[in-house]
Amino acid sequence: MTLFNRDTLRAAYNYLNETPPFNKWNLPDGDDVEFRVVRDRGTFGWYLRENGKHIIGLSVSTVGHTDTLIRTMAHEMVHIHEHCSGPCKKGHSRAFKRWSEQVCRVHGFDPKAF
Ligand SMILES: [Zn+2]
Repeated sequence: MTLFNRDTLRAAYNYLNETPPFNKWNLPDGDDVEFRVVRDRGTFGWYLRENGKHIIGLSVSTVGHTDTLIRTMAHEMVHIHEHCSGPCKKGHSRAFKRWSEQVCRVHGFDPKAF
C-alpha cells in the first residue's frame, strides 16, 4: 500500500496553504499545481517550474509516513514561494533558510530535518 497519490498530495498542499506562514504568501491554489508521485531513493521530493507550470514531486520510495509527507510538502512550498518572489537560485538560499525557519517554528518541524 502506498500512502499517497496525486489527490492526497493536493489535499496536503491545500491544507498547508491555509496555515501560516503559507497563507500570507499568496501561493497558487492546489488546482494550479501539478503533483507527481515518483520513485526515487535519492530524494524525498522536488519542485520544478516547467512551461509556466508549478510541479511538485514526492517519492514513494522515501516518503512512507504522513509526518514525512507534510514536512516534505512544506519544504517544496518554500521553493514555490522563493520562485514567485524573485530570481530562483539553485539549492537553498539565505532567504529560503529564513522562510524555512518560520515554517518550522509554526509547524513544529525539526529545522535540521527540513
Ligand atoms: Zn529544497
